[in-house]
Amino acid sequence: MKFCSACGHRVSHVIPAGDNRPRYVCDGCAQVHYQNPNIVAGSLPVLGGRVLLCRRAIEPRRGFWTLPAGFMENGESLEQAARRETLEEACANLGPAQIYTLFDLPHINQVHVFFRAELASEHFAAGEESLEVRLFEEAEIPWKELAFRTVARTLECYFADRLAAGYPVRNEVLPPLAVTAVTP
Ligand code: ZN
Repeated sequence: MKFCSACGHRVSHVIPAGDNRPRYVCDGCAQVHYQNPNIVAGSLPVLGGRVLLCRRAIEPRRGFWTLPAGFMENGESLEQAARRETLEEACANLGPAQIYTLFDLPHINQVHVFFRAELASEHFAAGEESLEVRLFEEAEIPWKELAFRTVARTLECYFADRLAAGYPVRNEVLPPLAVTAVTP
């Protein structure tokens, strides 16, 4: 951040009095511009034991498969955000939903939350951000073509929990991925 969004003056990156970390503080109006983690809300839609996945039509990870998910908007609840994303990306409505997986990703300042729910009907279709939407049996899941780690972890948890017939809330902190050396 270079300029204050309230008055247009330059900002400085300093620790405000009484605070304990650097913030962007306006040199003109002294407003402190806090930056906090973003929340991604999504769903794990299930129908007859199969899981609904969307193939992404947009970057990042275009062409890869994902669960419906996206950034939460102001003025909505977490569950509303998950339902909205499911409707936008898969044209699908969810039945009653339970909060299921919750991932902290401190290295990218994000929190990802997925709700588990049966589809309310058999109707679904590719929304604008999806190339294709379909249901997958466990054996058909395209593990190597999943878009995001939190999607893969949610699916892993689901198939493991389904065997045990119980779905406890799963909260995991995901560290940065180790960078693998490329051998020439
Ligand atoms: Zn200002």
